[in-house]
Amino acid sequence: MPELPEVETVRRQLTEKVVGKTVKAVEVFHAKAVAQDDTIEDRLVGKTIAGIDRVGKLMIFSFKSQSDLFLLAHLKMTGQFFYVDGEVVSGGGHSMTAADVAEFPGRHTRVAYYFTDHSALYFNDMRLFGYTKLATAQEVATARAGFGPEPIDTDFDCGWFAAQLKKKKAVIKAVLLDQSFVAGLGNIYVDEALWRAKVRPTRRANKVTKAEATALSAAAGDVMRESIAVGGTTFQHFVDTGGDNGNFTDYLNVFGKQGTPCPRCGETIKKIRVAGRGTHYCPGCQK
Ligand SMILES: [Zn+2]
Repeated sequence: MPELPEVETVRRQLTEKVVGKTVKAVEVFHAKAVAQDDTIEDRLVGKTIAGIDRVGKLMIFSFKSQSDLFLLAHLKMTGQFFYVDGEVVSGGGHSMTAADVAEFPGRHTRVAYYFTDHSALYFNDMRLFGYTKLATAQEVATARAGFGPEPIDTDFDCGWFAAQLKKKKAVIKAVLLDQSFVAGLGNIYVDEALWRAKVRPTRRANKVTKAEATALSAAAGDVMRESIAVGGTTFQHFVDTGGDNGNFTDYLNVFGKQGTPCPRCGETIKKIRVAGRGTHYCPGCQK
């Protein structure tokens, strides 16, 4: 599943490709991928993409001179975007194979957005959990309200974060995965941030000290920014929209490293289940 750094990488690269493009036609191959909306083509034809914003892993396309028309896109488990301009294909999302780029539209193409300059944006999704659907300004506001602040933001308030943790009795891992509290941290990045901050994933959030909370918010932001800088993680076969493989796996310290020595203290990394998720930590240096 693409995590936030992958989605942010796709967002940035799609922004370079499609902003300023005007929709000429929309072809829907599977109605579920557009939330059964049979008006999508009528409402998008002639509209020019103004920008792509993001909250959590939700991408929000806006259109020039349209204050009440947005396109929400979520990759979920297996979504991919491919931008095709002549012979040049750029893709990003999840599980890219040679078959995915063999033809457009392909077997897993759910929606195609054709632009007036003859380029096109294809939304592929094998499992059909993802979507690209139209939304009003009110619906966008509602979607945004479901997400907490992101540690990746440079103005993330670590004082607020520390104070909120004091009110939460759940284990810290579960608290960090709760997108309505802090947005954008997926399973990999929570494990990595907790390792960097030397906090054990099974600690109760309200037992995390202010100093640890400060270290944790900084670590969470750092790990996400570093991952975006190298284009995300590769082990899910992620390829960003420029066709480059992300290689953040080279930078992981605990995730997927069970049975190997901790790079900081040498103790053997353990894998357990916390909050229903595979969780990796070092029993030696994470308290
Ligand atoms: Zn250690």
